[in-house]
Amino acid sequence: MRGLRGRFLIAALVAIQALLAGPSAGHADPPPAQAPRTADYDIAVRLDPDAKLLDGRLRLTWRNPSTDSVPDLWFHLYLNAFRDRESTFWRESRGQLRDVPMLENGWGRIDVTALRIANGADLLPSLTFEAPDDGNRRDRTLARVRLPQPVAPGGSVDLEIAFTAALPKAYARTGYAGDYFLVGQWFPKIAVYEPAGVRGRAAGGWSAHQFHADSEFYADFGYYRVAITLPRRFVVGATGVRTARVDHGDGTTTHTYEQGDVHDFAWTASPRFVEITRRFDAAAEVSAQAYRDAAARLGRPVEALRLGDVEVRLLMQPDHLPQAERYLRATMRSIAAFGLAYGRYPYRTLTIVDPPEAAIGTGGMEYPTFITAGTIAPLNTWPLNRVYTPEIVVAHEFAHQYFQGMVASNEFEEAWLDEGITEWAAGWLVDEMVGADRSVLELAGLRVSDLDYQRLANHRGRGSEMIRQPSWSYDTGYAFNAYARPSLTLRTLDGLLGRRTMARVMRTYVERWRYRHPSSDDFYRVASEVAGRDLTPFFRQTIESPAVIDYAVGEITQENAYTAVTVRRQGDLQIPIVVAFKFAGRPVERRTWDGVARWTRFTFSYAEPLEWVDVDPDRKVALDVSWLNNGRVVAADRRAPIAMTSRWLLTVQQVLSWLAF
Ligand SMILES: [Zn+2]
Repeated sequence: MRGLRGRFLIAALVAIQALLAGPSAGHADPPPAQAPRTADYDIAVRLDPDAKLLDGRLRLTWRNPSTDSVPDLWFHLYLNAFRDRESTFWRESRGQLRDVPMLENGWGRIDVTALRIANGADLLPSLTFEAPDDGNRRDRTLARVRLPQPVAPGGSVDLEIAFTAALPKAYARTGYAGDYFLVGQWFPKIAVYEPAGVRGRAAGGWSAHQFHADSEFYADFGYYRVAITLPRRFVVGATGVRTARVDHGDGTTTHTYEQGDVHDFAWTASPRFVEITRRFDAAAEVSAQAYRDAAARLGRPVEALRLGDVEVRLLMQPDHLPQAERYLRATMRSIAAFGLAYGRYPYRTLTIVDPPEAAIGTGGMEYPTFITAGTIAPLNTWPLNRVYTPEIVVAHEFAHQYFQGMVASNEFEEAWLDEGITEWAAGWLVDEMVGADRSVLELAGLRVSDLDYQRLANHRGRGSEMIRQPSWSYDTGYAFNAYARPSLTLRTLDGLLGRRTMARVMRTYVERWRYRHPSSDDFYRVASEVAGRDLTPFFRQTIESPAVIDYAVGEITQENAYTAVTVRRQGDLQIPIVVAFKFAGRPVERRTWDGVARWTRFTFSYAEPLEWVDVDPDRKVALDVSWLNNGRVVAADRRAPIAMTSRWLLTVQQVLSWLAF
């Protein structure tokens, strides 16, 4: 889901220095070809589009992945977030999300009407609602049932479940607007039983959370077969491959979709969608040079990097059609670039939903093989066609196919592994697609880049909140700590390690953790191993501390062919830093500092006057909270970047708030 920039762009659019000996290529173990089948679903659901009701039956096979005997099962019933003003979601969000307010009479709910072991015991009488996160006894988004017999280690259980659901009016992620339906988080979904050792657990147990205002996903992999029945006039899109379409004699149609190696299933329906299909033809979309470049960067043979074809299906709103090509171009670029960087997209299909403006709250969402984008009609034409929302949203949501879709981290507990890595990866791609100096927008001569944008939120006074922190435990810092701050942290790491090592870190992380559940520590371990040095101190400071980075030029004294320049560490965070010095008539001189002490002094015995000093001259330390104090012009010089910058940033802020109409 989109966060920080989403506030301006989606909802608003309703609007160092390489210190290394040389990177290791990382383990070249092929990623597992298939995900474990921990939770298989066979669902039949019927939509009543007038009453906005779902009537569903499902058969769930759950396999115990642990060596424990498991006595109970936990389920997410997330549509109950929209049930009433007592839900934890409502209390946290105060009835609005991403600046989109909840609509009157827009309540939704889900009721489990039957839950039994297949051909066996009725479990419904034992169902209780649980609230491990906040103790809210009125919340009904998490349910637990006791089993008459525990599920044995490695054993499985087959369940038959029936449910009815009322979809909410779409303002947050899921629901309807008129005859448009985006159906996500809609069925009783089993939580994740984490065996001992997974994500650092000492003992096995359920990782199950209520539905919160922030963060969404954590689930186990399995095979989904979903048969959706609704009136024939609807165009349907869903996770996976359509394996059957049967018209019944009564004006209804059943669309069956199937997909393995995924941990969720979402679908959409509207009679108004304009369907555009295009094949991602790997042979045409990826040049020999692109393969060679990726192979060199990753230290892999070209043959190990080959991508596969993907059937892309775009479901557009008629009034957004002038932007269809932009969506498609961004999609093709995303499949190619992320496939080369993180491994082949392993699914045959990708569906992109363009929601109507009345349901913009369902935009910018990620489900396996199924993403929702989001735009508004004014972006069809100049000058607003250079606000890169369609590109940004597609790149972001497609990046989620990797970070959280395949590398199934726990968004509730460590959202940055999901949103933060995605934000960084998408920023990097949109920089490549439209230009690193304008990757958010170009408007009236003004350019805003992804880096500018992320940095706007990063300043002193962000308080004591950290990147690694449960999503529901933030006061106001969720969006910053889940999106912008980790994105800036990864940019800083990229600057520290260099592009090639960074590429290998990310590749190795994805390959090792694909179809599994990594923690932040698992990420730190991969990064340290590939970089060939212990990066834990860097991560402890950036991910697990509220500390800020701020290096600044201090006093400068020059007399009698002696120059002394003090550089100060004004933040608590310590990082190796480069300082550049320019003396008249001499080449630029670069010196390094470990950045640990509160200050250091550089001295020179030159007769020539000092023209300027610049701390972190390549601006690799993206996390530095202020670049205004990094440089100082002493003597007259052509480069005077500093004073200009603050005025320019103010303008950017004005434009962005104007966009938030
Ligand atoms: Zn996201």
